[in-house]
Amino acid sequence: MNQHACPKCNSQDIQKGVMGATVGQVYMYPDKNFQKTPSTISTEYCRNCGYILSFYVDTPENLG
Ligand SMILES: [Zn+2]
Repeated sequence: MNQHACPKCNSQDIQKGVMGATVGQVYMYPDKNFQKTPSTISTEYCRNCGYILSFYVDTPENLG
């Protein structure tokens, strides 16, 4: 299985992105500890159809 082919349209034009909001980036916080340093969230998405293949936090160690 090619992890970098879109499951929807089979395009291999997969790009990495970073989730953003209107103001700044979207961050992932640990469930019970909002004092910790959050992590940004990155994505991999298909440039052909827009399907998002994966989400991942950039620094999971920050989430404790
Ligand atoms: Zn696609």
